[in-house]
Amino acid sequence: MESSTRRPITIMSAALAQRIAAGEVVERPGSVVRELVENALDAEAGSITIEVRAAGLDLIAVHDDGHGIPAEELSAAFARFATSKTLAPEDLDGVRTLGFRGEALAAIAAVGTVVALSATGEERSGARILLQHGEVVEHGRMARARGTTVRVHDLFAEHPARRKFLPAQRAEHAYLRRLARLYALARPRVRFTLELDGRRAFHASGLGEAGALGAVFGTDVSRLTPLGPTPVGAGIVHGYLGDPGFTHLDAEGIVIILNGRWIRPRAWLAALERAHQGLLPSGRHPVALLYIEIDPRMVDVNRHPAKLEVRLQDEEVFLDALSAVIRDRLGNIAAPAVLLQDPLARPRQRALPVSHRRLEERTTPYGDVPDFAQARILGQVFATAILAEADRRLYLVDQHRADERAIYQELARTGGAVAVQELLEPVRLETKEADSGELETRLPELHRLGFRVERFGRRTFLVRSQPFGMPEGAASALADSLAEGLGADQDWRDRLLIDLACRAAIKRGRSLTDHEMGELLRRLQGCEARAVCPHGSPIVAMVRAEDLVRHFGWPGVKT
Ligand code: ADP
Ligand code: MG
Repeated sequence: MESSTRRPITIMSAALAQRIAAGEVVERPGSVVRELVENALDAEAGSITIEVRAAGLDLIAVHDDGHGIPAEELSAAFARFATSKTLAPEDLDGVRTLGFRGEALAAIAAVGTVVALSATGEERSGARILLQHGEVVEHGRMARARGTTVRVHDLFAEHPARRKFLPAQRAEHAYLRRLARLYALARPRVRFTLELDGRRAFHASGLGEAGALGAVFGTDVSRLTPLGPTPVGAGIVHGYLGDPGFTHLDAEGIVIILNGRWIRPRAWLAALERAHQGLLPSGRHPVALLYIEIDPRMVDVNRHPAKLEVRLQDEEVFLDALSAVIRDRLGNIAAPAVLLQDPLARPRQRALPVSHRRLEERTTPYGDVPDFAQARILGQVFATAILAEADRRLYLVDQHRADERAIYQELARTGGAVAVQELLEPVRLETKEADSGELETRLPELHRLGFRVERFGRRTFLVRSQPFGMPEGAASALADSLAEGLGADQDWRDRLLIDLACRAAIKRGRSLTDHEMGELLRRLQGCEARAVCPHGSPIVAMVRAEDLVRHFGWPGVKT
């Protein structure tokens, strides 16, 4: 900037400073909604209605039936740093409320015209105030039922720069719907209604978790499998995981609710994505709804302006344990085969509220995979799957995927001292010109996996050994896999193992002897994840005896 246009440094006015601070808490209409809804929840509301017009620029109103604000305190609620929640610095160590900074209402009043109405139910009437530019300009009384309404008009009307950078109306509507869903999941006992431009966009009845799931997931609830409650670290976790076929294109399918507060800490999201690695099709993200209860004194929620990040004592230990629980659960659930679905059933509809009882039936169709080593093998079907019976269920086990999982696991487990089998004939491997140098650097690692590979020419290598017990052809599979290139990323080893497992695994269409089937199931039983192949596809389909009884109407057969 030219020096002639430069103005002297001055201390900015308090009013301006207030606006700038407000900009941090209130960056878009959705943030106003968040703050107002959290205030209503802190006031122990049983019912909350959110009304939005013109994506929040004309009006945002949040009505609740919570404990209200006494008339003589109503203006004080809008003063900066005014709060009824945190009284001493120590309180920050065990925050139990969603709000604690005493900033939100002041920040909102600085960027819009606000009307607040509130009644405690103890006084004969309620109070009403009108604020402009953060100042109370009208004060009066009026009759109303217990609870609070905060209406924000003309948000950012005097902040054209802020308005210019707001998300498009459609994006803001999508965000508001998402917020409504998140709060409904976080507080299933609270009734939520969202109205966008006079139309109901979301409603949850407040009758509990099953109802909230139904309102949020519609008929997709049948694709959620319950998890827990399970102790994890110092906390207790329960929740729902999408089956491997129910995934998302982004990380939005991960919902974390910690002590009734929904949060999105980056480190946690990353850990949860890692926990799903190898259990979902590549490029897909998990659907996971996790409720975590932990002593609030172990949680620091004052980490982030929007309160999305938190810090937990022993966070790494906790996340590791949580990941292990998820992996174990997700890797070992079998979904009932769809063959028994009523052909006359209505086509799938989205986001339909599902009644309570049906919901319970729908959220429990999953079963743990059985102990495959104990299952009774009935035979092979379609030269593709093993049919086995255990615990009043029939299982179909995809022979290719089962072998793939077992080989992958066996390879991954060796990662060091592995018995090798020298090949009588080394397998020749031709790499692409550009890859040969890269491959050279990875020979030691391949050796640790049991593959001794030596350089033979400019682009030629020889595979001289393979891990002991690997199927015939593993070395050629390795050669084929390496010939297609390595890729330079961190995951190359895992990708190689998956690829190798896929190439070496029993093909579909091959008939198996009884002995081979027994061996395959025994090896599958030894795996950490027995229901999902390393590409994230299901290995097992299940037919439950109770479904057959219902289907056939078998009399006198108990399930
Ligand atoms: P904080 O929530 O951090 O305390 P806010 O500025 O959001 O700060 O609110 C200030 C105070 O106003 C709250 O501490 C609470 O006492 C009161 N308040 C705000 N909204 C409501 C509401 N919907 N019902 C009851 N009291 C409320
Ligand atoms: Mg608040």
